[in-house]
Amino acid sequence: GGFWEQFRWENGRPVRKKAIVKAVNGVTFDIYQGETFSVVGESGCGKSTLARTVTGLLQPECGKIFYDGDRIDDLSYSQKTPYKKRMQMVFQDPYASLNPRFTVRKTLEEPLFFHYPELTREQRLDRIAEVMEQVGVHPAWAERFPHEFSGGQRQRISIARALMVDPEFIVADEPVSALDVSVQAQILNLFMEAQEKRGLTYMFITHDLSVVAHISTRVAVMYLGSLCELSPGGEIFNNPRHPYTKALLSAIPRLGEKKAKHIRLKGEVTSPLHLPSGCVFHKRCTYAKEICTQEIPTPFTAGDNAAVACHGVEQGWVG
Ligand code: SF4
Ligand code: MG
Repeated sequence: GGFWEQFRWENGRPVRKKAIVKAVNGVTFDIYQGETFSVVGESGCGKSTLARTVTGLLQPECGKIFYDGDRIDDLSYSQKTPYKKRMQMVFQDPYASLNPRFTVRKTLEEPLFFHYPELTREQRLDRIAEVMEQVGVHPAWAERFPHEFSGGQRQRISIARALMVDPEFIVADEPVSALDVSVQAQILNLFMEAQEKRGLTYMFITHDLSVVAHISTRVAVMYLGSLCELSPGGEIFNNPRHPYTKALLSAIPRLGEKKAKHIRLKGEVTSPLHLPSGCVFHKRCTYAKEICTQEIPTPFTAGDNAAVACHGVEQGWVG
């Protein structure tokens, strides 16, 4: 994914595609049609809450969510039904999210009963076989149970379940972090293939910046529910600006380095219930100055396409 995927070309000029998701909260962002938008941060920073809020599983405590121009956060259960088809979720642990007593066929048939009641049994089975094929699980295995599959295959089945209803937008909450490193790349490839084939829009939620940086159009780095940095994926990896982004990346071994540099963080993770004054990151930031303990940094545009919320970057003492 590249930054320019947010644009389509009209008369030789880039025109921004329409925002498919617009979240207005402590965190404000738009997700554009066809992009892979990743939200990165440590656990407990509110990423999963954000994911569930965006897909309507949770009612936001404050703020608004717009989907394709419509406000969706204040809809009733039945008003949400059409959006539930357009938006699907893939969870971290496929074992926990698949019903152990359901065969693959039953798992994949359920969303069809709900969203396409008019289909005949034969049409349902055809569609199941087609989607199983697409995610790389042999259709002949449709009568097997989750425990008969490996973790990677189970995640393929979870992805198949999300694809059954032909969604536009998929929110994936830590979709590969429960998997072996060797399997992670295969599953990410599957996501990318499905995106290409179906024009899907993704929001990935993860604690692992290195996993998503290369496949993301844009990455939002969050700390304690606050946005630290929002930049194109490649740029955040090569030119991290916010001290927290730098710390996340310093934990990753670079090409040619044997060991990761020590992560540049100090102190404990602060409880989201007792937010520090000023910059929420100041207790752990090695660059912190007095202003950081007093004033909340507001995001400003850095470089061409990056937004950063940091006094030090803004005033030039964080390089
Ligand atoms: Fe660190 Fe200050 Fe920037 Fe916060 S505002 S990240 S404390 S330098
Ligand atoms: Mg989580």
